[in-house]
Amino acid sequence: MTWAVISTWKMSWKGCTLAADLLRQGLRGSEAVIRGIQDVEDNPEFRSVGYGGLPDEEGRVLLDGAFMNGDSLHFGAVAAMEGFRSPIAVAHSLAKYDFNNFLAGKGAEKYAAENGFERRNNLTEESRAIYEKKRGESQSLSAYDGHDTVCFAVLDQMGSMYTGVSTSGLFLKKCGRVGDSPVAGSGFYADSRLGAACATGVGEEIMKGVLSYNALRNLKAGMSPQEAAETAVSELSETLIQRNGKARSMSLILLDNRGNFGVGTNIRFPFVYAAETSSSTLYLAEAENGRCRITPVEDKDSLDID
Ligand code: ASP
Repeated sequence: MTWAVISTWKMSWKGCTLAADLLRQGLRGSEAVIRGIQDVEDNPEFRSVGYGGLPDEEGRVLLDGAFMNGDSLHFGAVAAMEGFRSPIAVAHSLAKYDFNNFLAGKGAEKYAAENGFERRNNLTEESRAIYEKKRGESQSLSAYDGHDTVCFAVLDQMGSMYTGVSTSGLFLKKCGRVGDSPVAGSGFYADSRLGAACATGVGEEIMKGVLSYNALRNLKAGMSPQEAAETAVSELSETLIQRNGKARSMSLILLDNRGNFGVGTNIRFPFVYAAETSSSTLYLAEAENGRCRITPVEDKDSLDID
């Protein structure tokens, strides 16, 4: 059986390559998702995920994360969780239950503490400095356009599919604000009989179109992975422009159950893909008349977006 992995943003390059190594060795896709995402959660240079994530309006780093098993359709998710190293690890652990799969705030923290998950203060000096500077600049704080979610979708050699996501959400978000990332169907979805998809961008927009599930419905209706992903994003973008005059940034990655990928975006969006038949490659997707132009990026350092 073949294997494949796709992940969002250039920041996932190392994690994706690590996940690809695990999948090549025949390990479970769940392991590949967790290890790949943890590589990003642990890196303080990435300001939108885990350690070094940018804080909310009160200066607190509140994290969201989710995991889904495409065989059983079980998912686990945490929202607005503070003080722990790895939202994806906690979310994965919650996916084994039949109830209480999605925990928020104090409840998520209590579960993580009781189950021995590693604690960590995720606010670094650098992120605190960015927060203080921004706070000093504006009289009234409003969510700032500095956000990205690390998302992984994988197919393992057993034919099982998984997705995982982790994010600190919007910089300067209201206390308690939760975006699409931990919301099943919007931020992520996996069904091993069909495919796996996950999203990054402005959660308030992504949730209006239940984007990840919708992309998989397109796949079920017979579209190719690329058509399924770009149609989901472009239809939602068009709808939002018609209703509200604009559509904020949204991007979606998708794998079908044979490991083929599709990507949709309404911005310039880097992603990484690796499979049995292709080594880790960084691509840039660019929105073009409702379609998506996808080009491999040879020189990673030349790309100005993380
Ligand atoms: N979707 C995330 C949120 O709204 C942020 C992002 O992916 O850019 O919290």
